[in-house]
Amino acid sequence: MKFATRAVHAGLEPDPTYRSVIPAIHQTSTFAQPAVGEFVEDYDYARSANPTRSALETALGELEGGLGSSFSSGMAATHALLTAVCSAGDHVVLPNDLYGGTFRLVDKVLTRFGLTYTLVDQTDLDAVAAALTPQTKVVWIETPTNPLLNVVDVRAVIARVRAGGATPFVVVDNTFATPVNQRPLELGADAAVHSVTKYLGGHSDTVGGAVIVKDPEVHERVRFVQNSVGAVAGPFDCFLVHRGLRTLHLRMAAHAASAEAVVGFLKAAPGVVDVRWPGFSGMVSFRHPDAIGIAQRTKLFTLAESLGGVESLIEVPQAMTHQSVEGSDAAVPADLVRLSCGVEAPEDLVDDLRRAIGAGA
Ligand SMILES: *Cc1c(COP(=O)(O)O)cnc(C)c1O
Repeated sequence: MKFATRAVHAGLEPDPTYRSVIPAIHQTSTFAQPAVGEFVEDYDYARSANPTRSALETALGELEGGLGSSFSSGMAATHALLTAVCSAGDHVVLPNDLYGGTFRLVDKVLTRFGLTYTLVDQTDLDAVAAALTPQTKVVWIETPTNPLLNVVDVRAVIARVRAGGATPFVVVDNTFATPVNQRPLELGADAAVHSVTKYLGGHSDTVGGAVIVKDPEVHERVRFVQNSVGAVAGPFDCFLVHRGLRTLHLRMAAHAASAEAVVGFLKAAPGVVDVRWPGFSGMVSFRHPDAIGIAQRTKLFTLAESLGGVESLIEVPQAMTHQSVEGSDAAVPADLVRLSCGVEAPEDLVDDLRRAIGAGA
């Protein structure tokens, strides 16, 4: 079936009790047992499993083509996957242009437990190959990258990494592309990770994360960490994200239309240089000497961190979201502006930017 059909139907089974078409919000911590150790499926305690969460996990798996697990944040998902796959002494290859929180988790937390890492420009396949060591357990790809929106060829990286006989576990942070535009498991990756806070939830009303893997054995390891650490998504959050998934394809098309109009304007706007847009999704970046002034003057584009919601947002990454990479090889330019183009009328978004950029000239 086509993606749009899958998006609308993924994970939806009529509720077994009342036949509700939409999964109930099972706001419960525990489940009554008819006899000691007897319970329905794996529902004994809600850290381990919850039916609202299971419905979302099924849907995430269907959309990415693997086995899904739902977390309380994108970072919790990233943490669970890295700790499920890696042990002390292992090495991870990271992109040199990556989400600041992923860098912070590896650099400040996981290195204390013996993980090592190398930052590399993943658009340079020779550099990726050169970064591999006999200890490399994971190659972490983020594409398009945040905030510079570089596009990494997932198939090419995997082919190059495996050409030398190495078989590291390949992960793609698919937050910016979404499964509408890119399905990493179909490209040969072992796992996809999401901040569902962004496009999958899509309404800026919840924080959440997801891991989707191909191998059932790795899935079990991720579930084991999830249950052991406990960073599970609550039932109401799962309900909201699952609701968001049903319009993902429509929203992504509208985000792209907004971005296209905005890029058309920015390319000819005074003082604007280095306009970047991968050609899909609503993420656009550009450089301008008055980056901070522009970000403070827009009215429709709200000055805020995060992205992927139906409303447009603007931010200055160096000062707002990427301070954790300041001074490292992953540092971003101070004059960079990042836009998350929402699904408002594109003309209104362009007018807002025209006023904000013009007023500073
Ligand atoms: C936001 C984000 C994350 C982290 O997700 P949270 O839900 O904020 O924990 C990871 N990767 C990318 C690309 C992101 O944009």
